[in-house]
Amino acid sequence: MSNHLFDAIRQTLKPDATFIETTSGERWTYGDMLAVSAKIANALVDLGVEPGDRVAVQVEKSAEALMLYLACVRAGAIYLPLNTGYTLTELDYFIGDAEPRLVVCTPRAMDGLTPVAKARGARVETLDDKGGGSLMDLARAKPAEFSDVARGPDDLAAILYTSGTTGRSKGAMLTHDNLLSNAATLRDHWRFTPKDRLIHALPIFHTHGLFVASNVIMLSGASMYFMPKFDADEALRQMPASTAMMGVPTFYTRLVQHPGLTREAARNMRLFISGSAPLLAETHRQFETMTGHPILERYGMTETNMNTSNPYDGDRIAGTVGFPLPGVSLRVTDPETGKPVEDGETGMIEVKGPNVFKGYWRMPEKTASEFRSDGFFITGDLGKIDERGYVHIVGRGKDLVISGGYNIYPKEVESEIDQIDGVMESAVIGVAHPDFGEGVTAVVVPNTGASLTERSILDHLNDRLAKYKQPKKVLFVDELPRNTMGKVQKNVLRDAYAGLYQPDKATA
Ligand code: ATP
Ligand code: MG
Repeated sequence: MSNHLFDAIRQTLKPDATFIETTSGERWTYGDMLAVSAKIANALVDLGVEPGDRVAVQVEKSAEALMLYLACVRAGAIYLPLNTGYTLTELDYFIGDAEPRLVVCTPRAMDGLTPVAKARGARVETLDDKGGGSLMDLARAKPAEFSDVARGPDDLAAILYTSGTTGRSKGAMLTHDNLLSNAATLRDHWRFTPKDRLIHALPIFHTHGLFVASNVIMLSGASMYFMPKFDADEALRQMPASTAMMGVPTFYTRLVQHPGLTREAARNMRLFISGSAPLLAETHRQFETMTGHPILERYGMTETNMNTSNPYDGDRIAGTVGFPLPGVSLRVTDPETGKPVEDGETGMIEVKGPNVFKGYWRMPEKTASEFRSDGFFITGDLGKIDERGYVHIVGRGKDLVISGGYNIYPKEVESEIDQIDGVMESAVIGVAHPDFGEGVTAVVVPNTGASLTERSILDHLNDRLAKYKQPKKVLFVDELPRNTMGKVQKNVLRDAYAGLYQPDKATA
């Protein structure tokens, strides 16, 4: 048996071709990648990592960090990347849950993390502290050849924790074939070839930057430019030498505010992709006007990799996430009965295909409850399919507001508010209300200098939305709470305003 994922990467690569360039001027070829990932794989074996062991990794973005991912794949270990923003308390949960053999961290985190990991029976190494004694130091002395451990399509390649937008993060078990089949589909769908150079400004601990971006690039033999984090000036400087960019919506909102974004600046680029959170239709339109490029929006999640994409050729419709990818079945069902809804109606999005994960790590009951008996995974996202077959994400099931017995989809209210002059963005949430169960509550970010009042917003909505959909209160804030992937954390807002309609609290 061969190594399902790495064999495919190996078959594509040309050793002399550029793989990664970085902001600090490093250049890694595919040959470097083969050699260094082999060296790290040898070091992992030395450290006692066996096939099936978890290797938890919380390090800053670097080419070496990506090599460590590939080394784990080659050694048959299960790669477990962790958000660099996690605190020690959070790490304690992840390490306790995943029980890794090895934890790899930054030198800065070493002191704090060591007792946490040791208490959980894991060994701790830094990736590269240049002072000696790190995993990279051990690897440098190892042979540049490694006999890849045999792994079949259904063996686990990674456990990826969900972003924790709606509650505690869950470990999604992803197999070699989940990753390989989805990346190959995306490569073909988005026409990646060795000629491409991707501006890569995403973190590599999340499905987007790690699998969608890096796996697709490797399976195309293309190259990428690693930026530690998004910077509009730097992205614009790279565009003339690049062909594609994958980003979260905040990249695009920042680009459209930049005077340097012009047709000329984006002339060499052939593809701009957005995902991980909804892209405002207005941003899409502005970006297209300024560059001539319609952004290609797609939809996916940790558990399923990518589900849909707007077409490469054909209309990329703002506000939609396009069509199911080849091989992915997608249907919309009534959240209560589980039966398919009529065409065009809103319901729960369910998906099935080779992209869908094996289940939640050590949560068999949770896993069982999120799959239908015919194998469809219940995504938790609400959506609809329009008459042309485009999928629209309406929001998350958990964010649905039920007020006075009516279902209110926050996105419908947010879209109306966002059209008001002076509104930058908004989030609509349900907050416990003594009369209505939940009160529709709008949290609005005004543009600088805009003079908005609760009254002016409510007056605007009055003849546009049915009474039951109109906010009971409008609150103004400077910015919405977001996680590192740019997702609005509605649970943070719900917690912050939990007492809003409680009579005693309101007067306190
Ligand atoms: P958790 O599951 O822990 O609450 P999360 O769902 O945010 O966190 P991810 O797997 O990172 O964790 O995110 C997937 C979710 O992101 C999707 O279920 C969907 O709600 C949202 N999403 C992704 N792409 C898009 C998009 N193009 N438009 C709207 N929403 C999107
Ligand atoms: Mg989720």
